[in-house]
Amino acid sequence: MITADYHVHSSFSSDSDTPMEAMVEKAISLGMDRICFTDHMDYDFPETYELTFQFDVDAYFDKLSRVAERYQHDIKVLKGIELGMMTHLGNRYHKLLSDYPFDFAIASIHLIDRLDPYYPEFWKNKSSKEGLSLYFSSILENIECFQDFDVFGHLDYIIRYAPDKGTGFSMEDYREILDRILKTILSYGKGIEVNTAGYKYGVHPNPHEDIIRRYLSLGGHILTIGSDGHKPEHFAYDFPRLETVLKNLGVKEYTVFEGRKPISLPLC
Ligand SMILES: [Zn+2]
Ligand SMILES: [Zn+2]
Repeated sequence: MITADYHVHSSFSSDSDTPMEAMVEKAISLGMDRICFTDHMDYDFPETYELTFQFDVDAYFDKLSRVAERYQHDIKVLKGIELGMMTHLGNRYHKLLSDYPFDFAIASIHLIDRLDPYYPEFWKNKSSKEGLSLYFSSILENIECFQDFDVFGHLDYIIRYAPDKGTGFSMEDYREILDRILKTILSYGKGIEVNTAGYKYGVHPNPHEDIIRRYLSLGGHILTIGSDGHKPEHFAYDFPRLETVLKNLGVKEYTVFEGRKPISLPLC
């Protein structure tokens, strides 16, 4: 059983109004051992969007410490963050991660050419394949100049919002760029996350199992698991379903982080 959700949002994320306590209580009710909050920090998010995706880090640590202490006999509460990458932000994120004792840092891309692929505007005059190709190129560009993360988040998630909703996705169409991304992540000794939010959108977990398979075949072994839940009902979303997928891929362990150090846990 997967007993740790390592991608969880709370009201510190501008797209969630869930108190941390509600998420923790949901986790305890499901018999989980660990919950890692990874609230959104997207520096320089364009003001054209309503949401800011930034939070007060001192207040975040203060709240996390109090919540961790309150529930310490029932569950371990970890201090993570989801960083929204853009190539000019590396130094600022590096400083943030140096200044605070985070347990875990996810690097994600939520903007391509300053457009959020969640909204149709990004997809205007673009096929699914063109949008995905731009996105994968942006990942490579970003990770070539920023290494201070633990896992890369939801690697192919924009498929959820693509015009074809990922129905035409084949890893072969992007093999070269995906190989370069995976090999770069591996060269840093970093990992990838498997994010179950794709199931909510009727698509596969992110990344697609073919990409996970390729990551494993290249020697990758750091795999964290996260629901990306922004509400308690989405905490640990479809984890048993993912567990079956991972076992079928031959995965025997998954990874959690403490103090930015990986720890392997058995899948069964
Ligand atoms: Zn994200
Ligand atoms: Zn997220």
